[in-house]
Order: sequence, then C-alpha cells, then structure tokens
Amino acid sequence: MRRLERRAMICMLLAAVLVIGTLLFCVRFVRDGREWATFYGNQGIYTDGMLSSGSIYDRNGVLLAENTEEGIIYNDDADIRAATVHTVGDTRGNISTSAMSVYKSKLIGYNLLTGTYKLQGKNEDLTLTLDAEACKTAYEWLSYYDAGTVGVYDYTTGEILVMVSTPSYDPLDPPELDPDDDSGLYINRFLSSTWTPGSIFKTVTAAAAIDRLDWQNFSYYCEGTRYVEGSEINCTHAHGQLDLADALTQSCNGAFSLLAEQLGSANMEEYVERLGLTRRYDIDGIRNVSGSFDFPGDPISNGWAGVGQYNDQINPCSFMVYMGAVANGGRSAEPKLLANSSVTMTGQMLEENTAMILRDMMMRNVTENYGEWNFPGLAIGGKTGTAEVEGKSPNAMFAGFLADPEHPYAFIVCLENAGGGLENAAPIANAVLQQLMY
Ligand SMILES: [Zn+2]
Repeated sequence: MRRLERRAMICMLLAAVLVIGTLLFCVRFVRDGREWATFYGNQGIYTDGMLSSGSIYDRNGVLLAENTEEGIIYNDDADIRAATVHTVGDTRGNISTSAMSVYKSKLIGYNLLTGTYKLQGKNEDLTLTLDAEACKTAYEWLSYYDAGTVGVYDYTTGEILVMVSTPSYDPLDPPELDPDDDSGLYINRFLSSTWTPGSIFKTVTAAAAIDRLDWQNFSYYCEGTRYVEGSEINCTHAHGQLDLADALTQSCNGAFSLLAEQLGSANMEEYVERLGLTRRYDIDGIRNVSGSFDFPGDPISNGWAGVGQYNDQINPCSFMVYMGAVANGGRSAEPKLLANSSVTMTGQMLEENTAMILRDMMMRNVTENYGEWNFPGLAIGGKTGTAEVEGKSPNAMFAGFLADPEHPYAFIVCLENAGGGLENAAPIANAVLQQLMY
C-alpha cells in the first residue's frame, strides 16, 4: 500500500513538472516567438545575414527597398537612398530606429500561429508615410551644411512626410568608419538628437505668457541690452518700444528674458512639459528622445532659458508636434510612420484661444519681418532661431506650420554650425514645403 502511495506521488510530481514546463514554454513562445522566428540563423528569411523578404514603399508607391534572396534592391536614385536611409535602414542594421530594424518581424511576415510561413505565400510590405521626392529635396539642401535635419508632418493625421538627417550615406556604398568616428552618421538627428533651440523657443515662453500673464498690457522698451543683477542680456540691436507680438516678431531677448522672469521657473517647467517637449512619442514602435530644460530660480539663468539658450535642449520631432498644436487649436496628431496605422491625438497642450493668438503672432512674424516673398503662395507661420553654441558657428533653426486646410503641415529645420536661421534654415523649409504643395 505504501509503495503504491509513493508511486502515485511520483506520478503526480512528474505530471506537475510537465504542466509547469508546458505553461512556461507557452508564455515564452507568445512573448519571444517573434525573436526566435526572426533570429539571424533562420536561413529561410536571411541570405548572408540579410533580410530576404518584404518591401518598403513611400506614400506614393515609390519603392524604397525590397528584400530579395539576392540581397536588398534600393531605389535607383542615389539622393533618395541617402535621404531615406535613416528611416528605411541598411543591410547591416546600423540604424536602430529604422524601419528595417524595428519592423523586421512585419517584413518577414511573422505570425504567432503560422510562424514565418505566410499562408498567401507573400510577405508583408510596408508603406511608409514619407514622400520620397520631398525627402530628396530636403537632403539636397541639407548637404550644403555639416549636419542637420528636416521634419515635416501632417498635424491632422500624424503622417510624417519628410524625415531627413545628415550627414548621410548611400546604403549601396556604405563608408568604412573609424572606430572613434563621432560624425553621428548612423544617428537619425530628427528622432535621436537634441539641440539648443535659440529663439524658436520664444514660442514656448510666449504661450506661457499668453496663458499666465496680462500679456495684452505687456510693454517693454529695448535699448539693446537688459541688465539683470549686474549681468547683461543682449539683443542684436535696440528694438525700441514693443508689445508681446512685436517682441516675438523682432525676437527681442530683453523682452523674453523679462517675460521668463515674470513667469518664474515653476510656470516655465510646467509649459515645457505641457507642450510635449519633455516627452517621447511612440511613432509606430519607434521612440524619439526627449528634450531637457533647467529653470533655476535666478533671473539671469531663467532669462537665458526663456530665450532658448542656457541648458535648453529640444528634440526636433517633439518641437514639430508642438508647432502642429499651435496651428491646430492647441492639440495635434501624434507622429506616425506607417500608412495604415491609426491616428492618435495629443492631449490639449494649449487652450484653443491661446493657440489661435500664438498662431496669428507667428504668421505676423512672416508678414512683418521674414518677408512673404521668401515663401511664395504659402500660408505660413514660423519662428527663426540662431542658437549660440560654444566654440562653433550658431545652429540655424526654423520651425512653424502652414495654416492651410489642404496642406496642414508643421515643420522644423535644424542646421549645425550654420549661421543665421532666417538666411539658412528658412529657405530649406520653403523649398521642401513647395515640393509638397504640388
Ligand atoms: Zn531687444
């Protein structure tokens, strides 16, 4: 009897181990199956370590890359290849935020039930929201500068139309990099870099001022230098008598350092957060990096932070989304890259009324200062920036939007070591937007 009991116990134990093992396997299969199926040893889908299935197209059906058993076929145009390599990816997986890296399992056609064997015998193709021709235009303009990025997106649908980062390279002729290379060739600067914004940040201080201060009675007389506790905040020249709209149009450092002082560090901290500048977006599985800011109590540091200097660091993608919210009544679509993914809206970043006031001020910047003739036919609002960077020429920046229901686009242009924002960044925005109009 006792022997039987012992045997029964052993059987129960073995059964328990089997059940637990099966459960563990199922959990790991659901969780990691995608990884197993896309493992580089899986010869059915890789040829010489490269992906051999799935194609990537732009929004107009232009082929960007096709994975075949003979290797990857890219677009015929070398400029389109270099313009889109940071988004599409290369054969070596150098760009971690690229479609080929992030959507590997989609391209292979992985499915939990059928594995990588597609029932229709066809791998999933990806259609990106990019416009390859407009990306090419952006790339050609960017190539005159050391480094930079251009982003354009539809603030009502979230579709990223242009996302170009330089320096870039032709994926058919990849460079051999030194181990200590610091050019950031494989970095998508639109998603993965941060920049001193300079005066484009005044649109943030202005939004907070419209909400939190008696901005309609704001008045400042600029003599060219504002003295704060023995330190100087300088303008390019004396701007004279200004209200808030004038201060933004003239980009007066004195006026905006005063506004930042009146707002105080708590308000400034709240607004960079509310406007999405410290958050990371989930762009169909690809994440951008967040910006970072410091608003210490002292008026001189706060003043410089309010004009886009000090420790201010913006991410181009997040700032572009904020520009969309200004144009779109205070909220905009979150950015996306896959043509068939759903639309998600941001929260209300600004009151609708605040957004409209700021939108009109930014359009006035163009009519009163930058010159409509620089943007023929565009209903454009924007803000330039010339961001001082120690030991280098300034970063040239230009960010804004089209107030055009047919072309509801927000944009940003950032150029490293370039000089003035109006002279360098604004013409690139115009060229790319003109390309997207027709
Ligand atoms: Zn001034």
